[in-house]
Amino acid sequence: MHACNPDGVAMKPAPFGYHRVFSAAEAVDHLSAYEGTAQVLAGGQSLAPMLNMRLLRPDALIDINGIEDLAAVRTDDEVAVLGALVRHATVEFSPTIAARLPLLTRVAGYIGDRQVRNRGTIGGSLAHGDPTGEFPLASLVLEASVRIAGPAGHRQVRVAELYSASYTTVLNPFEVLAEITFPANPAYCAFAECCRRHNDFAVVSAACVGDRSPDGRWRGVRIGLGGVAGVPVLAERAGELLDGSDLADRDIAVAAQAVLEVIDPPDDIRASAAYRRHLAPVYVRRVLTEMRDGASTMPDRSQDTTPATNADAKPEAQR
Ligand SMILES: Cc1cc2nc3c(=O)[nH]c(=O)nc-3n(C[C@H](O)[C@H](O)[C@H](O)COP(=O)(O)OP(=O)(O)OC[C@H]3O[C@@H](n4cnc5c(N)ncnc54)[C@H](O)[C@@H]3O)c2cc1C
Repeated sequence: MHACNPDGVAMKPAPFGYHRVFSAAEAVDHLSAYEGTAQVLAGGQSLAPMLNMRLLRPDALIDINGIEDLAAVRTDDEVAVLGALVRHATVEFSPTIAARLPLLTRVAGYIGDRQVRNRGTIGGSLAHGDPTGEFPLASLVLEASVRIAGPAGHRQVRVAELYSASYTTVLNPFEVLAEITFPANPAYCAFAECCRRHNDFAVVSAACVGDRSPDGRWRGVRIGLGGVAGVPVLAERAGELLDGSDLADRDIAVAAQAVLEVIDPPDDIRASAAYRRHLAPVYVRRVLTEMRDGASTMPDRSQDTTPATNADAKPEAQR
């Protein structure tokens, strides 16, 4: 099929072939047959604009939306596994995901607008690798890993090792990101981001998770930042500084300052590097304070095991 309307008039993208597939193996076969000149089509929310602007001119699109397995959410005692085709809106509204991965639920509502969230997929977001993307950041902080299907079978890659540069992953052109596995994660979380306009991409974002002992001491605090380098960044030392603390304001101030050691912000159309360096500790302070103050009021998230599907996503008006 070529990029023409029914009257044969050329459309915005360059001409491309189209294949709808029903298994990951079939997708890999097609990608291999095109020898790296085809693109996977998931939600199309990043791909379609790039095609329309002719930033990409693939020979073919391999449409994976018919692969039912990739739209599933599975949970057991140890992990939650989201198929690559789980839509942003499913993450936003699924009670299962809210119970198991509250940080993921929290960040989903910040992504684009309702239309983008209804079609965009978590796998597409991770594969696209926008350094300001909410899901790459949350997945990094939650210590997720991705299962990748390729010609030689499957491989598992930690999200911490998925990105090599801005918009660049270790996926090769014959591979499909199949699912994302999230281990059991700390009980508390917070997220905040700075945007120039409502629904815009973030200038700087910050996320954190952690556990609080009955004596009020915090353990396992992990702090991540988006928009401050070519890839999402985990501020490991800043998190370690908080181990055993009660997240007093002075502890938070020290940790927030420590994130400056690991960031290398870009200068771009949204903000200067200097402004991003100013924002990073400010937003880290905000999320750590919010996590501490919210800890005593957050609901117990440990019990819900109902499977979620993309059908859990409801338009805003029906909520
Ligand atoms: C107006 C607008 C606002 C937006 N705002 C935000 C925002 O605030 N935050 C944010 O994070 N994102 C934002 N996005 C992007 C959105 O989240 C996309 O949905 C997401 O980045 C890509 O997901 P997708 O399923 O649409 O992937 P697609 O657009 O279909 O694909 C994106 C890229 O990933 C590849 N790909 C997709 N799925 C796979 C897979 N399973 N395996 C291998 N490769 C794959 C494709 O080949 C393509 O190169 C916005 C988009 C728009 C149009």
